[in-house]
Amino acid sequence: MRPRPHVMQLEPYQPGKPLDALQRELGLSDIIRLSANENPLGASPQVLQAIQQFLPQIHLYPDGACQHLRHALATFYQLPPDHFAFGNGSDELIHFLGLAYLEPGDEVIVANPSFVRYDATALLNNAVLHRVPLTADYRHDLPAMLAQVNARTKLLFIANPNNPTGTLVYRDEVEQLLDTLPEHVLVVLDEAYFEYVDHPDYPDGLNYVRAGHNVVVLRTFSKAYGLAGLRIGYAIARPEILAPIERVREPFNVNAVAQVAAAAALGDQEHIRRTRTLNRQGLEFFYQLCEQLGLRYIPSWANFVMIDVGRDSRAVFQALLRRGILVRTGDIFGMPTFIRVNTGTPEQNARFAEALRAVIHP
Ligand code: PMP
Repeated sequence: MRPRPHVMQLEPYQPGKPLDALQRELGLSDIIRLSANENPLGASPQVLQAIQQFLPQIHLYPDGACQHLRHALATFYQLPPDHFAFGNGSDELIHFLGLAYLEPGDEVIVANPSFVRYDATALLNNAVLHRVPLTADYRHDLPAMLAQVNARTKLLFIANPNNPTGTLVYRDEVEQLLDTLPEHVLVVLDEAYFEYVDHPDYPDGLNYVRAGHNVVVLRTFSKAYGLAGLRIGYAIARPEILAPIERVREPFNVNAVAQVAAAAALGDQEHIRRTRTLNRQGLEFFYQLCEQLGLRYIPSWANFVMIDVGRDSRAVFQALLRRGILVRTGDIFGMPTFIRVNTGTPEQNARFAEALRAVIHP
């Protein structure tokens, strides 16, 4: 028995405790989870209906090519169907990008802090990882990331908006980067929170795919579409960029229920509009709360906010949890005085506000 040595240096992913286990442990009946950036409205009712109708067919293997969903997305985005690849969550596509593109000693550039799965795909494949600190206003420092590019650079990841900070890179910054990068670098624009963004200078990554740049755009049904539990995300790029991904994926990596649900979810854009409106109200509510409590926060374009609680966030996390609210601590992102909290329903937001107020000004 001898695993690949660098694999044993990876940290296993630490999943959060299931809500029901946590509730039993704390003797609470209704913990509100605002830590996983899920949609508090849940999935569209049309999705639930489509899944119900589909259930008699779950003994059949899924369509390994996701044809129905592929064509629905192609119509939705006005792109050819061969410009899509699918994953068991966009997490899996990040994994595939590493498997498909990285050889030992190749280099990967990420921002720090940013989404941790980019690091994992680099390290799994024995690539050299360059973590480039965010700017003072918590945004990607694209010139500094560009300065790390060399002949071995294969992948450059940009989460736009960034997780955990909710900050954006703007159109002119991305375009300058793409115009300067050498041909051998593939830029991964991870737009997991795309549907939430409402900013005039936010670039739609698909324009760069259409223009023929070496760009892969990642999007997901986990966030605004409310399907996190089904695990389905997609990549959009020129077919020659996706061809290696088609070779490393398993034949049936996206389950049949997820495919049916995603197509139904795409068809209910009214649900997305409701979700965006609710989120905008939630963000405004959180900002006002921070101002009332004298707390600094990072203005966000996603469905979560980083709040500087001005003390060890792990203690605040525990105190909030005792009051039935689950958030993320910032220590894992190197921001130990911040908590990350996603917007909930108005009732959930109010309960969070009450709990935070009690913890900050006891
Ligand atoms: N990218 C970013 C920036 C994320 O925040 C997340 C979810 N935490 C993902 C990708 C993965 O999402 P999923 O695998 O559910 O599609």
